[in-house]
Amino acid sequence: MTIGFFDLDQAELSEFAREHEFKSFLPTQLCRWVYERGVTEFEKMTDISKRDRLRLSERMHFIQSDEIVAQRASDGTRKLLLAWHDDVPEAGSRRLTVVSEDGALASHSGRKETECVMIPSGDRRTGCISSQVGCPVGCRFCASGLGGLEGNLSSGRIVEQAWRLGRMDGVGRVTNIVFMGMGEPLSNYRNVIKAIRTLNAPWGLGIGARRITVSTVGLPPAIRRLAQFDIPVTLALSLHAPNDDLRKEIIPWAEYTTIKELLEACQAYFQASGREITLEYILLGGLNDRPEHARELATIARSLRANVNLIRYNEVEGLPYKRPVSEDVLRFQSILREKNVNAHIRASRGRDIDAACGQLRYKNREKNREKNRDRSPGHDGSRVRN
Ligand code: SF4
Repeated sequence: MTIGFFDLDQAELSEFAREHEFKSFLPTQLCRWVYERGVTEFEKMTDISKRDRLRLSERMHFIQSDEIVAQRASDGTRKLLLAWHDDVPEAGSRRLTVVSEDGALASHSGRKETECVMIPSGDRRTGCISSQVGCPVGCRFCASGLGGLEGNLSSGRIVEQAWRLGRMDGVGRVTNIVFMGMGEPLSNYRNVIKAIRTLNAPWGLGIGARRITVSTVGLPPAIRRLAQFDIPVTLALSLHAPNDDLRKEIIPWAEYTTIKELLEACQAYFQASGREITLEYILLGGLNDRPEHARELATIARSLRANVNLIRYNEVEGLPYKRPVSEDVLRFQSILREKNVNAHIRASRGRDIDAACGQLRYKNREKNREKNRDRSPGHDGSRVRN
């Protein structure tokens, strides 16, 4: 049984070293090799004695995922489809790797896939990572939500994505992290918080709090809880509609909470952390991109003194939503600006590589389903479960 390195914080690494009678500075050595130098092969960790490297390899592992697909867009954006196996060995009785207290992947059998993306821009290398396998929210325009939630990612699996993205092309580390991949990060709160500690820590990936963005569709109690967290990350609220009726049409979870409740929770976050809130607004052609929507959104943004990120929808095969036309997007932005709202149109990155969240995983699944259908002589047309 071996323990997953990325699941451990510094105190747990020290405990591990003590328990297995390693030198007290082993945690520092390991963190340097893995987080600073990007090395995960025991044989390359030359300042650790051969005997200890052997003992370590019997007790610890690093990488928990397999790379299923790696794509590179013409603009340099990289996307990975990773598969996580449930049979990663446990570590003694602590079960840090396989089962998190709030239900990681242990109850699911077989391979679970998630996506992560690295977006280069000048000196900046932003890692967009997933917090869950699938998503419980089920936004109607999103490929990630199509199959519902399959499980939470452990903190180690969240950190591993950031580490992997930093190592793509052999370069160092990501400079920014956004929790905008698959899943609703605040519904996997404990693991996301633990992962943020490692992403932020000087002994970990050393990414500043301002450069870590948690994007949520909105769980007011969890936003208030996050306001008490000692690392003041940037909070982005995925609003996507300027009124409750329209929001309920496209985000099923909007049934459970009103925009007013969300804004109150965001206000509490702003007061506690001093961090301005960003409103994310995905523009769906002909649906939420009308001038009246821009005016409603302006009122909301001004009440919160929030910036607005406008995102042009990337179409997903099989879903009815359309990418908005450029002139509607520009008009939407100018209405916001006329009303003194700081509104940016987020550049579309990686459009030629299934850039929309969950799209790569969705396509891969469909491909596998087709393969299974072809192989099955008595197939009756029913859906094949992966
Ligand atoms: S848009 Fe985000 S919150 Fe909505 S279903 Fe997709 S991953 Fe989940």
